[in-house]
Amino acid sequence: MQAPMDITQKKIVIFDLDGTLTETKSPMDGEMTGLFRQLLEKKRVAVISGGGFGQFKKQLLAALQCSPESCANLFLFPTSATRFYKYQGDDLVEVYADLMTVEERRKIKEAFERAFEDIGYQHPEKVYGEIVEDRGTQVTFSALGQDIADVLGEEGVRQKKEFRVKHEQKLKELTAAVASRLPEFEVRLAGHTSIDVTRKGIDKAYGIHQIEKLLGISRAQMLFVGDALYEGGNDYATKRTGVECIAVTGPEETKQLIRSWLNVL
Ligand SMILES: [Mg+2]
Repeated sequence: MQAPMDITQKKIVIFDLDGTLTETKSPMDGEMTGLFRQLLEKKRVAVISGGGFGQFKKQLLAALQCSPESCANLFLFPTSATRFYKYQGDDLVEVYADLMTVEERRKIKEAFERAFEDIGYQHPEKVYGEIVEDRGTQVTFSALGQDIADVLGEEGVRQKKEFRVKHEQKLKELTAAVASRLPEFEVRLAGHTSIDVTRKGIDKAYGIHQIEKLLGISRAQMLFVGDALYEGGNDYATKRTGVECIAVTGPEETKQLIRSWLNVL
């Protein structure tokens, strides 16, 4: 975590979700919820994640319960900003969704099936929910199934981390195999055990561009916080936009940052 910059000069703080505000696929804890709510009273806040809107509901919104004034400061960009939600009064409304065509999604699913064969990929014996999930604007592979953290809670998170450490090479091989079958799409290793496929040019830099365009905030007035700003990480694209970025190792460091801002706001 770098030294905090002058938060008073920023008009919006943009967070990654998994590994930044929450543990992977888990809800925000009570302490983070309180800090996040306080920050919303003072600043506009956006969240960009590869996760679908369902994940935002479970991980972020379920516990948040903010006032209409604070909610008006919250902007949500699921599936790498291919969807955008904001509050109008008490209602959360979808502003846009860049859906892929049925044919595009079919092609991506088929590419995964072929890639499994290409590299002799063996699925784990026990998986939880769908392995290749069609999220409309994105198709996502999850090695242990989409629902593992929902079903097993912390144990699911532990298993995901363990899987990543044990099978990192295989996951990278699978990402490359899928990418070589889908040159016209963006294929990225994201989270601990996931591979996201979107249309080309859809990444967190796209999200930054959407915020600039739709909220009328310049890049110099944005601040991004994420746990995967290293090369190859799913926050890395943010760096090339010129937006100021702060790398954190996890939610605890994010809490420290928010506390330091709340002291001066
Ligand atoms: Mg992350």
